[in-house]
Amino acid sequence: PGKKVLIVYAHQEPKSFNGALLKIAVEELTKQGCSVTVSDLYAMQFEPRATRNDIVGHLHNSEAFNYGVETWEAYKRGGLSKDLVEEQKKVQEADLLIFQFPLFWFNMPAILKGWMDRVLVQGFAYDLSKAYDGGLLQDKLSLFSFTTGGGQEMYSKGSISGDIRYILWPMQHGIMHFCGVKVLEPHICYAPENVSEEKRKEMLAAWTQRLKNLWKEEPIDCSPDWYFK
Ligand code: FAD
Ligand code: ZN
Repeated sequence: PGKKVLIVYAHQEPKSFNGALLKIAVEELTKQGCSVTVSDLYAMQFEPRATRNDIVGHLHNSEAFNYGVETWEAYKRGGLSKDLVEEQKKVQEADLLIFQFPLFWFNMPAILKGWMDRVLVQGFAYDLSKAYDGGLLQDKLSLFSFTTGGGQEMYSKGSISGDIRYILWPMQHGIMHFCGVKVLEPHICYAPENVSEEKRKEMLAAWTQRLKNLWKEEPIDCSPDWYFK
């Protein structure tokens, strides 16, 4: 109760299975007394491209554009574009970040990747020698909740697509852990398009159930072993 949750949501269709998972999270967490904010990226027409437009006013080096350096400098002088400042404020206030999306090419949809690229700016999310356990977004939790097209059997160790954890390495370790954010177990709904209505209802009920006990969960041990051992 009283916890702040930011859900970053990347699906175009409210009637989708991802839309149903989002609705459940908003309802259940609100019921618990959490304050829930949703960044509905497609509805916001969130800009995924990392460009010069993200810097307001003068460039640090106008001769040769370097996105990482320019956003870092702009962050320090309060010169990032308004949409980024707003997202950073939501992140700053949140105790828990939930990412809700369908798996696209073993990864998050481009619009969500663009959110990571643009919002988690140096100086805000990490800094020189302030990464991983020293990252700047300490005392926050993250949870990747996503759906797949492929069934669970395709994503086990030794199967054709490999362990689903290989896919989670860049997202959970490369992004969240790098920024100092702790990682809860991912929540994966396999192949909602290809299972029975009954199974879909079961998967939705399991998400509700998990959310009920979420604040008692311990973060995973986010080290290479978790992913590759
Ligand atoms: P939907 O099609 O929206 O939902 C599935 C079903 O659930 C629908 O019948 C819907 O009506 C129903 N439903 C919605 N709400 C409810 C409810 N409340 N109760 C019961 N039923 C409900 N998959 C992979 O595994 N690996 C990949 O690398 C991959 N790459 C992709 C790349 C691209 C570009 C695209 C477009 C897809 C890719 N996919 C991949 C598949 C993708 O991950 C799935 O299509 C997606 O995860 C399905 O989720 P959805 O929310 O869109 O499903
Ligand atoms: Zn890690």
